[in-house]
Parts: sequence; C-alpha cells; structure tokens
Amino acid sequence: MLVVDYGVILDLNGSAVGFLFEDGYLKDTSGPLGDHEQLRPIEDVDGCLFRGIDSRGLELVLPALIARGPSGALVYNNTPFHVIHGRICTQEHKLAGHIDDQGAIYARDHVTKKHYLKIDPSAQLSTAFSGTKSNAEKWKFDFVRQIPGYRKDKTNAANEIIRYFQDYDKVNTVQKKYVLDSLALWASCGILPIVRKSEGNAGLSSNVKHGAAGVTGVRTGMVHLDKEEFEKEVGYFNRWGTFAVVKPNERLFQYLEVRINLVVAHEFGHQLEFVLSQKTQEKIQDLYDRKKANCNKVHPLPNGYPGQAELVQIDRVVSRVFISGYSRSSWHEYWAEGVAAFSTKEGRQALKQLDPAVHEILHAVIFEPQTVLRPVFHDTIMEVQASFRLGGDFHENILE
Ligand SMILES: [Zn+2]
Repeated sequence: MLVVDYGVILDLNGSAVGFLFEDGYLKDTSGPLGDHEQLRPIEDVDGCLFRGIDSRGLELVLPALIARGPSGALVYNNTPFHVIHGRICTQEHKLAGHIDDQGAIYARDHVTKKHYLKIDPSAQLSTAFSGTKSNAEKWKFDFVRQIPGYRKDKTNAANEIIRYFQDYDKVNTVQKKYVLDSLALWASCGILPIVRKSEGNAGLSSNVKHGAAGVTGVRTGMVHLDKEEFEKEVGYFNRWGTFAVVKPNERLFQYLEVRINLVVAHEFGHQLEFVLSQKTQEKIQDLYDRKKANCNKVHPLPNGYPGQAELVQIDRVVSRVFISGYSRSSWHEYWAEGVAAFSTKEGRQALKQLDPAVHEILHAVIFEPQTVLRPVFHDTIMEVQASFRLGGDFHENILE
C-alpha cells in the first residue's frame, strides 16, 4: 500500500518511491515498484492499481477497470496524442480519454465530470490512429468527420460553417472570410451543428426582406439571406468592423442609428432563439420590455420618424440603450442583434458594457448550455462539446 500525493508516490515511512502521471505513466521508481528511471506504463508493474482523483478532482483509476485498448499515435481533429493501452494521453501527461480496439472514442471530460463519455459517431471528429491493437496486431484507423462533402484541407469549424451556409462556393473570397469569421465562435463551441440539425441551414436568395425568420417571428427553419443585403453588409463590415453609425434619413439630420454589420450571425441568432428554453426566452422578452421602456424615456422616437429603431442624438451614441438601433423593433430582433454582436470580439466588449444581462445569457449558451437550452438538446450538446474540447476546437479562452 502506497500513497500518492500530487503524483509523488510515498511509502508508509513517507519516503518518495516514484512519480505517477495522470495518464498512467510511472517514472523514477524505486523500492517496491522496482528501480526504474525511465517512463513506463502502470501495467508494467504487476498488481499495481491506483485509485484516487486527478489534479482537477475527477475520479481516476489506473489502469482503468475496462478492457485494454490499442497503443500508438492518435490525431483527433489536428490534435496529436499518445495512446497507451487505450488511454489517450496529452503531451503534458494528462489523461484525455480512451479509445477502444474498434476506434470508438470516450472523452474524459472535466466539465461534465464524466470519466468515459462515449462520443457518438455523429459527434466524433476526424480520427487517425496508427499503432497496435491490445492483442499486439498492427493497426491503422482513419475516421472522417461525418459531414457530407467534408473537406480534409479545412478545419472542422470551417466544415461545419460550409455545411450550414450552403452558398459558400458561390460567394467570393472576401465574402467567404466574412461568413467564416462571423460564425467561427458558434461552430467551434458546437452550438452551430445543434442549431443546424434542429432549425436548418442558410443560403442566399433574391428579394428577401431582412431574412425570413426575423421579421415575422415565425419559424421557417432555413434562413434566406437577401443577396444584395449580404453583399452590402460584407462591405460595411470590412470598412467599419462590427458597428457602423448611419443617418436614418435626411430630415432627421441631428439623429444617428447604430447598426451591426453581421447579417449572417444575426439570422443565425433567430434560429438559435428556437433552441433556447422557454424560461430563457421569457427572460429575454423581459429584458427587452425593460430596455424599451427605458429607451422610450431616454431616446423617444423623434417626431416624423416612421421606423421603430432607437435613434440617438449625434453626441449621445455612447449612451444608447440598445446595442443597435434595430434591436428596439421586437424582442426577436433584440436577441438576434445580441447574438450578432457576440460573434466578434469587438461586439462582445460593447455588449458586455451596454447589455450585460444578454451578454451573460450568451456566455451561458456557450459555457453552460444545459442552463439555457431546451432540455431535449442537453445530452447532445454535452457530447458534442466534450468531443470538440478533446479535439481542441473548443477551449476556455474561446472568447478572447
Ligand atoms: Zn432579424
């Protein structure tokens, strides 16, 4: 019986007799574990079993009480790992998961606190393994992400976006970059595939008045973006970034309207609304109602203005109530504009200042989706996010 304290293996007299890494490798052992300086897997010491927790408090058993898996080199979505007896090990000797002899992946996920979260093939990222199976037979395994038309030369996030934005190949290079940049966050955290499967994808059409889902608030599934509006927005975005300040019309020369130049993310926001729980939707409506009441007091619509957007006097842009003028139109637009703003770093910073409550909901959509999404999506999003975390697409600093 030995004790392990932060990796240091101690005998009953309190002397160090080796080091145990979280991925099950031993180093510098002596005494009862035998004299070995080199790294070797815990399986090499007969009858050796570790039971405890890892450095982040998640239960850890080494070797695991499951069938041994293969050993070799693994690349999961561009992230390289070393595999020993099925344990997926990081370069820092952390245990990231398990792969079995058939190529099924189990994530060791500290967010969901699951030791072996089985990744369904629909959530599994591209997997390349080379080594030997548990029976020592040579084995090469190549699994490609299950997205129709998957492009191996592109990242997983780009593939998700191309799958979603079906006219990707019809737009020019600058427009492609705009689409990829404005949806990158949503693709990398696994929310985009959930929304796409539930609500549909997006494409360009002619003569669509500001997206379909938005204006009516009616659920239409697919987003139809007006081709001209799309081209115009890309131009605005490249010239000014996330926000632009425009004159509503000539007569109201002393007023300005703030607009967000992210129509693709805005329309995606309408689809995202439908995967939110009832409670979250009600919270957004409530936030909107309060903002609107405040806006009516602080920035009442000017006489003779036929629209519904918040207009601000020229010197009062920073004291606007809504993140953009258009947000004032309805709670659906308020939410969609919030999603659009949240899609870029510049937009997130502004949103955090002007509308921390919506910023907080959007933060939860990404990092605690089980608290804001409809319950029917909880299992899927947890699994997708665990898979994307393992593959390196989804990490803690994704908003920075
Ligand atoms: Zn809209």
